[in-house]
Amino acid sequence: MAGYESKTATQMPNNLEAFFMPFTANRQFKKAPRMMVGAEDMHYVAADGRKVLDGTAGLWCVNAGHARPKIVKAVQDQVAKLDYAPNFQMGHPLPFELASRLAAMMPEDLDHVFFANSGSEAVDTALKMAIAYHRARGEGHRTRLIGRERGYHGVGFGGISVGGISGNRKQFGAMLPGVDHLPHTHDRSKQAFTRGEPEWGAHLADDLEKLCALHDPSTIAAVIVEPVAGSTGVLIPPKGYLKRLREICSKHGILLIFDEVITGFGRLGKGFATDYFGVVPDLITCAKGITNGTIPMGAVILRKGIYDAFMNGPENMIELFHGYTYSGHPVACAAALATLDTYAEEGLFERSAELHGYWEDAAHSLKDHPHVVDIRNLGLVAAVELDPLAGKPTARAYDAFVKCFERGLLIRYTADIIALSPPLICGKGHIDEIFGTLGDVLKEAA
Ligand code: PMP
Repeated sequence: MAGYESKTATQMPNNLEAFFMPFTANRQFKKAPRMMVGAEDMHYVAADGRKVLDGTAGLWCVNAGHARPKIVKAVQDQVAKLDYAPNFQMGHPLPFELASRLAAMMPEDLDHVFFANSGSEAVDTALKMAIAYHRARGEGHRTRLIGRERGYHGVGFGGISVGGISGNRKQFGAMLPGVDHLPHTHDRSKQAFTRGEPEWGAHLADDLEKLCALHDPSTIAAVIVEPVAGSTGVLIPPKGYLKRLREICSKHGILLIFDEVITGFGRLGKGFATDYFGVVPDLITCAKGITNGTIPMGAVILRKGIYDAFMNGPENMIELFHGYTYSGHPVACAAALATLDTYAEEGLFERSAELHGYWEDAAHSLKDHPHVVDIRNLGLVAAVELDPLAGKPTARAYDAFVKCFERGLLIRYTADIIALSPPLICGKGHIDEIFGTLGDVLKEAA
């Protein structure tokens, strides 16, 4: 990473005020900013020149590690060749190629792709598509949407409505009407320190039957869940839970949406969670790892039957009144194609699967550390939950986050939960460093 160090001093802005930072305690951050000015492979370079091990793949997105040459070159070449072209009533080749590549990675007839620019947009697209699909089939009464407590589906009004995080909703007034939530599946009293999928909890899917009875299933358009809830603390689905949800949805003609914005692209040791769990939804939302975090992009992958339902009108009619200026942006597509090549050439999904056992043991080695009340893991993701400090709910995990950063490790925290999800190129030494540093920080804080 030669070269970064010499630049760092001048790269630190002297006024931090104007940038209204997302999902950040702005005033707290601006007093003691943590800035990254470079990145390569498994590491960031902080503004003071220190190397910081990326224990979170950025925000769960840099699955192939940072500044990968093939992706960098693809972006540079594409922006020079065709920087932008719309995909409304005209096109350019790359989204067609990328859609075919993504479809080829999918099970069953999930073989069409709609592009967006983020996970939030992918989610709102999938929800709108579900409602419009039923309408196209003459079932316009199917408009209800069902999400889940502790679900995170981005920040659009659709996403926060089906999402189950009160903090993300309460500033924003009324949500979408006709939305219900299933219970989340995490109960520490029954699942604490489970390795992988918990035995307890599949029956919680049956609450969908209760909602069907309450509303009449013919009013329900779709159910959306993260196969593994990421942002609210890595909640691993109980064994058999997703299969049961699938069965109930199929029985009542309800579309099942898997929000794979985090679980997609190798995080669980397979291409997607649908492969890992062997449960096939009707629509998949993805983003993040699709371009390895380099260029914003999201996508909805849908079954052939959903696409076909929109294709039954006259040929010259627009089939879906929805889309973004940057749907299928050429530079994002080039980044995604190079990212898919990198995943395949380096066997990163398989690598993620191979490292799983080592990762699991390393994560659970923190079991007896001070204040640790639960550890959960699957694939190359894990959470370490701490007991809350009375009156200061986020203090312990936040302190650990700050201390880890000082020691050259980036982790993530949400309330009392620390989440870890390194790039899939990580080695055993990196895994030792992640849990070693975190363990030391937890011991010292006690
Ligand atoms: N869905 C899930 C499951 C996510 O984890 C996220 C982002 N963490 C989103 C949607 C939203 O993605 P974005 O931030 O790209 O809008």
